[in-house]
Amino acid sequence: MARLADDAMPTHEEIATYWYCRALPGSDDYVPLIDLGEPECFACGWCRTEQVTSKKALEKRWKGLERAHVLARSLGGADAVENIILLCERCHKESPDTADPQRFWRWVIDHPASGSMGYVFQLEGPRDPRVRDYTGPQAHALRALALLSSDDWETLVELQEKMTQKEFIRLMREAEMRIGGVSTHWGIGLSSGTVAEIFREVARHHRDLQEEGR
Ligand SMILES: [Zn+2]
Repeated sequence: MARLADDAMPTHEEIATYWYCRALPGSDDYVPLIDLGEPECFACGWCRTEQVTSKKALEKRWKGLERAHVLARSLGGADAVENIILLCERCHKESPDTADPQRFWRWVIDHPASGSMGYVFQLEGPRDPRVRDYTGPQAHALRALALLSSDDWETLVELQEKMTQKEFIRLMREAEMRIGGVSTHWGIGLSSGTVAEIFREVARHHRDLQEEGR
């Protein structure tokens, strides 16, 4: 079979949109992608750290991620969106190429996540000036946190301390579903107000569960 040109591949946008809010095959896990406007490697959560001030710059940042086949082309894998994820260069090089897609997915799911949410809760609280002044890749999440009450913040810190990043992102997905879904614009991503509502719902639900458990 002739090798297809790269432009036959789904775009970065199509891949991200397909996988956003979708559990990985054979797993309850989601990729560490909390915001379509803040692209991250689906395995490790790596993202470029340049500040993004325009839609064009954001597109460039997405292109810093490579389109990786789950089942390699050489093993008969299709250039279809459900067979492609976004990985940083390093993860792409390290990812397994076998005839069994489940092995690829297990590698993605077991990969230690290094990005995004971990450091967010190391801040002192919503009033920490670093929350408001930060302009790097997690700016949306930080601005969202700045909108929260101290109670919500404390609940989120408590949750974050006892779970993995992937488990925490799963709580965010469930919260999104409970509030009836959220919407996003490609290149803009979730607004900080939207992320704040998701965080609030995570915190509220957790406190409700604790009340019930009493
Ligand atoms: Zn990576």
